[in-house]
Amino acid sequence: MTRVGEIVLAMVYIGLGSNLGSRRSHIHSALLLLEEMGAGRVERVSMLVDTEPVGGPPGQPMYANGVALLETDLQPEALLAVLKEIEARVGRIEREHWGPREIDLDILLYGPSIIKSDVLEVPHPRMWKREFVLGPLAEIAPDVVNPATGRTIARHLADLKAEKTGK
Ligand code: AMP
Repeated sequence: MTRVGEIVLAMVYIGLGSNLGSRRSHIHSALLLLEEMGAGRVERVSMLVDTEPVGGPPGQPMYANGVALLETDLQPEALLAVLKEIEARVGRIEREHWGPREIDLDILLYGPSIIKSDVLEVPHPRMWKREFVLGPLAEIAPDVVNPATGRTIARHLADLKAEKTGK
C-alpha cells in the first residue's frame, strides 16, 4: 500500500482471459477501459499465452491469458463492480457457467489483503493450480508473496510444475 495524501493506493494483479472473437483486442479494450473508467493506472502487462480451456463444455476455443498490474485507489468490491462493467462493455453476454467468453477479469491479488465475502475471494482461490495464471504472473511479479502461504509467486509456479511432472 502507498499513501498519497489521504488516498491509499493498492497494487492489484488482475487476471485477463478471452476465448471468443478477437481475443487480444478484447483484452486491450479491457485495459484501456480500466484507465478510462478511473480504476487506476495499468503499470504492467504480461505477455499473453495461448491456453487450452480448463473445465467447462467440450470443444471451446483456445484462451488468451495474461495478467496486469493495476495501481488503484478503489476498494476491492468497488473494483470488482468496475471489472464486471468492463466485462459487459467488452461484450460478454451471460452464457453457461465456465463457457466461452469475450473477456474474463479476475482479481488475483489485492496487495497483501486476504478477503472472503459473499461476492469476492482474494487471493483468487483457483489461481494456485493454474499455470496460465501463475506463468504470466511470475513474469511480472515473481517475488510477490501469497499472503495466505508466505510463498512467492515463483515458488508457487515451481511447485505447480513439480506437482504436474510428479517430481
Ligand atoms: P466468473 O466471471 O464467471 O469467473 O465469476 C465472476 C464471479 O465470481 C463474480 O460475480 C464475483 O462475485 C465472484 N468472485 C469471487 N472472487 C472473485 C475474484 N477474486 N475476482 C473476480 N470475481 C470473483
